[in-house]
Amino acid sequence: MTRLVTFADGTTVPALGQGTWEIGDDPAWRDEEQQALARGIDLGLTLIDTAELYGDGRSERLVGEVIAGRRDEVFLVSKVRPDNASEMKMMLACEKSLERLGTDRLDLYLLHWEGNVPLEETVEAFRELVDEGMIARWGVSNLDMRTMERLMEIEGAEDCAVNQLLYNLGSRGVEFDLLPWMQARDMPMMAYSPLGRGELLEQPLIRDIANRHSADPAQVALAAVLRHDGVIAIPKASSVEHVEANADALEIQFDLEDIERLDEAFPPPTRETPLDII
Ligand code: NAP
Repeated sequence: MTRLVTFADGTTVPALGQGTWEIGDDPAWRDEEQQALARGIDLGLTLIDTAELYGDGRSERLVGEVIAGRRDEVFLVSKVRPDNASEMKMMLACEKSLERLGTDRLDLYLLHWEGNVPLEETVEAFRELVDEGMIARWGVSNLDMRTMERLMEIEGAEDCAVNQLLYNLGSRGVEFDLLPWMQARDMPMMAYSPLGRGELLEQPLIRDIANRHSADPAQVALAAVLRHDGVIAIPKASSVEHVEANADALEIQFDLEDIERLDEAFPPPTRETPLDII
C-alpha cells in the first residue's frame, strides 16, 4: 500500500522513505546496502534521506551509485552541516553533495541542526540555492517549537518545507506541540529513527502486536508513526529482507485495542517536553 504526503507547494512524496545514516561506512557491507536501497526504490520507498555528515560523504557517494541512471525516480534529500550553513559556505557544501550524489539538484536540502550561523543567513543561503536551481526546496531538522516560531519571523522562512525530527513510539514528545503546529501549516514532519535505531523492535508489546497481525515488529513501529497525518518515516535498513518488511508497514491496520495498549506502554505526551535529539 502506498500513502502520499503532500508538501505545502503541492508536491507529493511517499510517506515511507529510506534513511542512510551509517550506510557506506563499512566496505564489507556496500553491496548489500546498495541492493537494499535499490530494492526499496523498486518497492516505492523513493524518498531517500542522506547528509554530508554521514560517513563524511560516504553515505552520499553510495546513494549516488544506487540512483545512477534512475535519478528521476527518487526524491533526494540531503543536509548541510550547521558550520556550512552560511552564505559563504553553503553553496560549496551543496556543490560537493551534488557531486557525491552524481546529480545536479536536490529535491530537499535541510539544515541538519541549528549551530552558530544566524538562521536569517541560513534562510538567505537556501534561497540563493533555490534561485540557482541546485535545490528545489529547503527545510530544517532538530528545531524545537520555540526555534520554529523564531524561524517563522524571518522573511522567506514561510518556504520551509519540513522539519525532520526524532520521532518513534519511545519518543512521542513532538505529538504535544510540534506535530499539530506543523500539520496546521501543511509542513510535513520527517520522522527520523522511527525504529528507535532498532531497539524498539525488542519490546515485548511491539512483538506481541506484530504477532497478532502476523506482521514484523518493524512494521508495527513504523505504522505507529505513520498513522498521524503529515508524517514521513525514513527507516534505515541495510538488507533487502529488512527493506521488504518495512515496505509493508502500511498494510497494518491497528484496532482500538492495539492503540490503547500502545498508548499505555508508550504514553503520548501530556505537556511540553524538551525536544529529543540523537
Ligand atoms: P532507525 O531507522 O530507527 O533504525 C535503524 C536500525 O533498525 C538498524 O539497525 C536497522 O538494521 C534496523 N532495521 C531496519 N529495518 C528493520 C527490520 N525490518 N527488522 C529489523 N531491524 C530493522 O534509525 P536511524 O538510522 O537512526 O534513523 C533513520 C534515518 O533517519 C537515518 O538513517 C538518517 O537518514 C535519519 N536521521 C536523521 C537524523 C537527524 O539529525 N536529522 C538523526 C538520525 C537519523 P539494518 O541496518 O541491519 O537493516
